[in-house]
Amino acid sequence: MPNHLIDALPAGATHPARRFAETADGVALTYAEFERRTAQVANALVALGLKPGDRVAVQVEKSLEAVFAYLGTVRAGGVFLPLNTAYTPPEVEYFLGDAEPAIFVCDPATEATLSPIARAKGVAQIVTLDAAGQGTLRAAADACRTSFANVPRGPDDLAALLYTSGTTGRSKGAMLTHANLASNAQALVETWRFTADDVLIHALPIFHTHGLFVAINVVLAAGASMIFLPKFDPERILSLMGRASVLMGVPTFYTRLLKAPGLTREATAGMRLFISGSAPLLAETHRDWRARTGHAILERYGMTETGMNTSNPYADERIAGTVGFPLPGVELRIVSPESGEVLGTDEIGMIELRGPNVFKGYWRMPEKTAAEFHDGWFVTGDLGRVGPAGYVEIVGRGKDLVITGGYNVYPKEIETEIDALPGVIESAVIGLPHPDFGEGVTAVVVARPDAALDEQAVLEALEGRLARYKSPKRVIFLDDLPRNTMGKVQKNLLREQYQGLYG
Ligand code: ATP
Ligand code: MG
Repeated sequence: MPNHLIDALPAGATHPARRFAETADGVALTYAEFERRTAQVANALVALGLKPGDRVAVQVEKSLEAVFAYLGTVRAGGVFLPLNTAYTPPEVEYFLGDAEPAIFVCDPATEATLSPIARAKGVAQIVTLDAAGQGTLRAAADACRTSFANVPRGPDDLAALLYTSGTTGRSKGAMLTHANLASNAQALVETWRFTADDVLIHALPIFHTHGLFVAINVVLAAGASMIFLPKFDPERILSLMGRASVLMGVPTFYTRLLKAPGLTREATAGMRLFISGSAPLLAETHRDWRARTGHAILERYGMTETGMNTSNPYADERIAGTVGFPLPGVELRIVSPESGEVLGTDEIGMIELRGPNVFKGYWRMPEKTAAEFHDGWFVTGDLGRVGPAGYVEIVGRGKDLVITGGYNVYPKEIETEIDALPGVIESAVIGLPHPDFGEGVTAVVVARPDAALDEQAVLEALEGRLARYKSPKRVIFLDDLPRNTMGKVQKNLLREQYQGLYG
């Protein structure tokens, strides 16, 4: 029976004896075993009452069983809905009320708290899974048959409901179809040249598109294997590089690995590819990594609503500070937010996308969905430009644009100048309410502990390098920028904290 996404990830059927995954404890699992375990979960979910199109919400620690829950749900015709493990009970309550899942999988440790919340939201079945992969879902699955006839699903049926990270406001549920996920996995296998010989180091969380769909679907589509780690641990990753070929990470993986003395050319010699995304990679990190290891990190750009959109090339030059070219099948254009006109080379505007990867819309938000599409193109909310050689550069988020005295200021331009100053580790430029200018350009700077930098020194160093209206009015020093689990800087928190700075 055709099940569009499962059929697009054929490894189980074609390479049953190959390794699919190895856990941190060294337990190896073949594709044949993967096939049986996902069949058991699918059987268990159907026995719990899952009907095609029903959502299965999951808030559990990372484990292979959680991966089986994802693919078991899809095999059973359900819609997988992973939730960030950091979400608090009131947040979980919101998501359960919004998505109305038929089944909720939580950790045994949170069951007593979350069960009444889920029941009050009308969730019929609550089952558990812990970090070791044990719980009532596992027990139910273990008692089920190891074969399952996949529920037929077409390309346009939903496979997942994935909530955005909530960086710019309340998270929205993105409806992702079988064709969205399948087409993106295939585009990435092709672009990154994945084969059955690849071994991916998987150290990302699996409640986000990066660790869930980019990492796992690519491995499955290529029939490759992964070393599945519960969390990011630089020493562990270094020790595994000799047996692996690819690492997918957020930028903080790379900055933290760079602090490990063991990161050398020799340690990374067997690796084929280092990929970064989910947040901007500093050009400095790209340069330092290349100097230390000889490898150019491949940066790509994606989002919950679309999966991956662009990637630096595999064979040609990977340019620091850019996210490369649109993936096969993906169209990208830059549009003036004011006039709606399509802009030319090097002009900054809103990034809009079209392609088989673009989601079906926001869950139960028809107006929001309509507002985020422009003549059939998805309006990403990211500002960027396409350079003369076709490389896409992200300039920042539309919501982070600072408008001061009527002028547009793109924070990244200021951040790049500040980051280049001696003694600066990184910076975030934000706009704060200002009585005269509407918004005041404000720099938040993380300096090296030994750097003798103060506000005056930063302002003086920037003088003459930036037009006056772009120059920060104030400079604030912090030990670290606030980041979420995906390494995204939380500018909204900075704006909140310093909102009264200009009175
Ligand atoms: P929300 O939409 O709820 O505010 P979010 O946009 O952070 O949250 P995600 O879908 O997880 O949620 O993140 C997608 C965003 O991450 C993109 O729109 C872009 O701003 C950013 N991003 C992803 N990859 C890169 C990259 N390589 N460089 C710069 N930004 C990136
Ligand atoms: Mg977003």
